[in-house]
Amino acid sequence: MSIFSLSINGQLVATEKTFGVVNPATEEVFAQAPDASRDDLDAAVKAARDAFPAWRDTPLEKRRELLGAMADRIEEELPRLSEILVREQGKTLANAQFEVGGTAAWLRATAAIELPTEILSESETQRIELRRNALGVVGAITPWNFPLLLSIWKVGPALVTGNTVVLKPSPYTPLTVLAFGEIVREILPAGVLNVVSGGDELGSWITEHPDIQKISFTGSGPTGKKVMSSASATLKRITLELGGNDPAIVRADATPSEVAGPIFDMAFQNSGQVCGAIKRLYVHEDIYESLCDELVKKASQRKVGEGFTDGVDYGPIQNRMQFDRVCELAESARADGARFLVGGEPTEAKGYFFPITLVADIEDGSRLVDEEPFGPILPIIRFGDDDDVVSRANATSFGLGGSVWSADIEKATEMASRLESGSAWVNQHFNLSPFLPFGGIKESGMGVENGPWGLAEFTSSQVLNVKKG
Ligand code: NAD
Repeated sequence: MSIFSLSINGQLVATEKTFGVVNPATEEVFAQAPDASRDDLDAAVKAARDAFPAWRDTPLEKRRELLGAMADRIEEELPRLSEILVREQGKTLANAQFEVGGTAAWLRATAAIELPTEILSESETQRIELRRNALGVVGAITPWNFPLLLSIWKVGPALVTGNTVVLKPSPYTPLTVLAFGEIVREILPAGVLNVVSGGDELGSWITEHPDIQKISFTGSGPTGKKVMSSASATLKRITLELGGNDPAIVRADATPSEVAGPIFDMAFQNSGQVCGAIKRLYVHEDIYESLCDELVKKASQRKVGEGFTDGVDYGPIQNRMQFDRVCELAESARADGARFLVGGEPTEAKGYFFPITLVADIEDGSRLVDEEPFGPILPIIRFGDDDDVVSRANATSFGLGGSVWSADIEKATEMASRLESGSAWVNQHFNLSPFLPFGGIKESGMGVENGPWGLAEFTSSQVLNVKKG
């Protein structure tokens, strides 16, 4: 079994206790991860705090260069990191390679983003600048669906703006991130990036730690609320990227054979375990059956299986808890009288495998529509009226993303602009970029990641007001 260590102050650190990491395709423990104690966390935070002044004062160009070197090393280690990612997360090898390669690309793009000092006023008598200053130590807490990519969404902006970091991956998928920490130790000054793994309790120790200035958190809504509550004791800055239940609305004038492909891909990517996946599909009654048929065709062309196996498109659900949840939501939809077009029953074999599942004749109010399944199951709901469907799409506490699909771009744009969500797309869904802000409103989160707006969240503003002469 491979040995994984914490990275603290540039050193690999073994812990007294470890915990098993399960391969979701076999349900077997295949590696042990270090279980950080409170003392280990204190050491990581102290290292980050000690490293902060020198890192903050390192010229931006130098920090950018080091982030570029990190991206290079991630690429060099792509085969190893991808293999670990398949084993712990379950995703296919191609998708794991895409995540690792995408992580390097995202890091490079983030390093290039400008967050300049703004000159608010300049005259003979005064100069007023709006500066963006690093905060100090950032606690970054991440989930299990894209362990490495979502870690870099935090680490990249935090470091380039001059903060130091203590990063905690999900206990379900700690290994790729631990390996990443090990690799970039050679590049960054000691203490600038520290990686600690452990259970959920370690997350709560981070959120209450007095020497951490900011929490950047991605995960579920219920945990996000705990993070906010705990961080309030020391008035930490917080960014929360939480769950979503994104609607996609397909108008009567859309062509089912054209929209089925991208809709299917955006619903089932990463086996549906994507915060901004399409999770509620509203289809106009005129094209309802036709789009259902097209989606069933797509499903018949895709294969669920073990991530290293050739020809497999989608891996298992990542963990038992999430698997049970998807099974439960499927059962409740069945009890509500919904029509299963494909899938619906978990596979008998070992592993948390659940087939691609399309559920028709289901209504708002059914748990599968109202709750976030975070798995390979999509409810397809009928609608007849454009205004009514926008209201129905908005009748939720979630507000991450949403999309409208139509031949009439003007009408679709008008409807999309009325969606209560941080992102609204037309004839596409979940189209992200390192240069665009991404975040949720309502209970899908607080603040944004990416672009200069995301970088700004790792800084405090300072008005520097100089009287001349
Ligand atoms: P989770 O909330 O269970 O865990 C996320 C992280 O929080 C883990 O590292 C966990 O150990 C840690 N944690 C748990 N309890 C904690 C506490 N009390 N204090 C501090 N940290 C704690 O979420 P998950 O199941 O790993 O991830 C799935 C969820 O994440 C889904 O709801 C999904 O939609 C959401 N998500 C959102 C985005 C986004 O950008 N909006 C992206 C990916 C996933």
